[in-house]
Amino acid sequence: MSVTAILALGSNMGDREETLIRGIADLCSHPQISVQNISPVAVTAAVGGPEGQPDFLNLVIQIETDLRPFELLEYTQSVESKHHRTREVHWGPRTLDIDIIEYGNMQMSQTDLTIPHPRAAERAFVLEPWVRMDPSAELQGVPVAELAKKAEDRDGIREIREAPVVCA
Ligand code: AMP
Repeated sequence: MSVTAILALGSNMGDREETLIRGIADLCSHPQISVQNISPVAVTAAVGGPEGQPDFLNLVIQIETDLRPFELLEYTQSVESKHHRTREVHWGPRTLDIDIIEYGNMQMSQTDLTIPHPRAAERAFVLEPWVRMDPSAELQGVPVAELAKKAEDRDGIREIREAPVVCA
């Protein structure tokens, strides 16, 4: 059975825009993933981690998939690896980061996978692109627009750019 899921992608190393586009194209290319919608891009100051990191480009996408949550995680991690994501520095620069924000109405908390993503409700760089893509979006019954207004890192969003055109 097909489920609607929200994924968040971020990049703050190398050609960030190109990396996001290629990452989305990799997601589209999976026979069990259909990309339904792509949000505008938030240019965001890096939160935590080493000083002086480049800004992140962040966006969210809506997909339909019949992959189970751990199968989806395995695939998103393979896409991260393909783009040479490095994990040496916790919260350090990364070529491509992909988080599963929401997977249908699923709620689960296991060592390697928590859904909804535990920090999504407070991250402006997830919420702001999401509400621009889908103004009526809700996270656990709460309007994403409301969560976005309350997010403490709101001021970290420097600019919103147009959504990339991929998998059209
Ligand atoms: P990060 O460094 O923030 O990308 O975290 C990666 C780790 O978070 C991976 O080992 C995942 O197993 C784990 N993880 C837990 N919940 C999620 C989620 N909803 N989406 C993506 N990764 C998750």
